[in-house]
Order: sequence, then structure tokens, then C-alpha cells
Amino acid sequence: MSGTGTDKNILDLTPDELEALVTRHGEKKFRAKQIFGWLGKGAGSFYDMHNVPARLLSALAEEGWFIGLPCVEDEQRSEDGTVKCLFSFSDGSEIESVFMKYGYGNSICISSQVGCRMGCSFCASTMDGLARNLTGGEMLAQVLAMRDLTGEDIGHVVIMGMGEPFDNYDEVIRFIRLINDSDGCGLGLRNITVSTCGLIPGIKKFAEDVPQVNLAVSLHAPNQKLRERTMPVAKKYGYDELMDACRKYTEKTGRRITFEYALIDGVNDSEDCAAELAGRLAGWLAHVNLIPLNEVSGREYRKAQPDNVRRFRDALEGRGVAVTVRRTLGSDIDAACGQLRRNRNR
Ligand code: SF4
Repeated sequence: MSGTGTDKNILDLTPDELEALVTRHGEKKFRAKQIFGWLGKGAGSFYDMHNVPARLLSALAEEGWFIGLPCVEDEQRSEDGTVKCLFSFSDGSEIESVFMKYGYGNSICISSQVGCRMGCSFCASTMDGLARNLTGGEMLAQVLAMRDLTGEDIGHVVIMGMGEPFDNYDEVIRFIRLINDSDGCGLGLRNITVSTCGLIPGIKKFAEDVPQVNLAVSLHAPNQKLRERTMPVAKKYGYDELMDACRKYTEKTGRRITFEYALIDGVNDSEDCAAELAGRLAGWLAHVNLIPLNEVSGREYRKAQPDNVRRFRDALEGRGVAVTVRRTLGSDIDAACGQLRRNRNR
């Protein structure tokens, strides 16, 4: 696990690791299953775990183990049901998570890092750089805390909040294993989506490790020159190399890939850009998700005009590319990722 100052968060432990812990304390293995089940139910204290011997729970607490659920520092609720939350962990790190209601069910977008070092020029999360990685348990804790806060079930999890998931690969995989385990939350792998800005080694590994989990790639441009303008990562992993890795991903997994494309006024929203993108994706098992940019104060970029969004969508659709325009949720709150944290800390 990455060192975070929260090394004894019991939410980080897989069932096997919990088993090793309880047997070290002289207890039977099934106690681990009981504790894992309580954690998946959102237990906030060891003393909620009624069927687990008090002596074991006391021993765990004495050893420094704790349930690392975050505190709610700020919360915004939109009329459309979106809830955006600024959470803090015990070391004071603050991150954001967003709960959204869709026709197909409830979804939560969680953060994978405190800040981000990828430097995308339209994004608030990266403006103060990367503070630290989140652990898998801290990612799980966002889901549990949001479920508790909203009183709603969560059917989908998207790792698309603050941070670049593949810059914290091992803990993202740990989170996926934790939330998928049938003794805990039991969330299906196909109900999880991981979004990367294009870290190619991560894409390759992901196809091997968890081929059932959905992959989204933030593309935001139809070519290298334009991508480099807003995404420094493009200088390290070029456009052609990225598209090649994405194509191999679809071939290996047989799964459709989603390309996220934030439409920025006058930058990447022309019909020429749409035509060029369609040319790149011809014949692919791919889907383009158009996102009217969430404007960030202190950043120069503005969201594309609604007419241009429509034209861009039509130009892709007319060329046979599967495309959707993401419904703007929570437009009456600080919806841009990282904005809530910055506004509070200014
Ligand atoms: S868009 Fe994602 S990868 Fe880029 S800086 Fe923001 S959080 Fe990081």
C-alpha cells in the first residue's frame, strides 16, 4: 500500500489480508468474513459489529486499526439530485466525490488521488499539483460515505474524479477487488468505469488484470498537435501510440472503449475536428462521450456553444461513430472536478 499516514485503515484490507489479521489474533478465519461484511454495510465503528467477539475488536483497536471513513467538509445538492461532496480523511487531505442519478441507476464519481500531477490545462484538480495517492480503502470509503449521506444505493462507480487512476494503478486495482467482493459491496465489475488521460502502460496492464471493467480514455482532441495544447501527457504518450494501445485494448478484451471529449469553445469544437476524429475512429469498437466543458475559474477556457455541440455530434454520427452528449448534471453547483476544494481553500 502507498504510505499515506493512514496505514491502519481496515477498509484497505482484502478478505485474505483480514483473515491473516484475525488468525494472528487467535481467531477463526470466518471472523474476517464477518468484519468484511460489516465494512461493506458501512459500519462506522468496530462496536457496530455485534456478532464479532468484543475481545477481537478491542485488540484491533488497540493495535491502531480504524475504519477510515471520511468527514463531510462541504456538500452541495443540485435540483436534479446530484450531490457533490468535499470529504476529508484523518490526515486532513481533501478530495471530491459526486453522486448522480441517471435513468439506468445511481452512479458515483470518485477520486483516486489528492490533487493530480497530469497538468491538463482545463482542469481544477491539477492546479495545486499532486499531494498524495489515495489507498483502495479510501476509494471504497467515498462510496460508503456517499451511500450513507444520500441514503441511496449506488449501482455504478466511475473513477473519474480528482487524480489520474493509472498514476496510482495498484491502489485502483485494490479498490476494484474490494468493492467487487461478494462478501462486501458485491458491485459487478461491469458496473465500474476507470477513466485515464492516456497512460499507455496502465491501459496495457488494465486489459490483462481486469478486462471486465470499463475503460474510458480522455482524448479531448482529434490529433497530436491539439491534444498537446491542453494535455501535457500527450508529449510523453503520443496520439498514434495512444490510439494503437486503445485499439489493442478493444481487440484483447472484446470490449468497447469510451473516448471522453470535452468540447472547448474555439479550441476543439469545429466540424473539421469532428471529421478528423471520425476518420481516426472509423471501424472501431468505440463510443465518444461529448462533454460540454465544466468551466473553471482561473482557467481561460469556455464551454462550447450549444449549436457547436450539436454540429459536432451530428458530424460524428453522420460518419457512423457512436456518440452521446453527456447530460449536464449539477449545473447549479460547483460541478467541475476540483473546484469545490479550491474554492474552499482559497
Ligand atoms: S483532467 Fe484528470 S488527468 Fe487531467 S489534470 Fe484533471 S484530474 Fe488530472
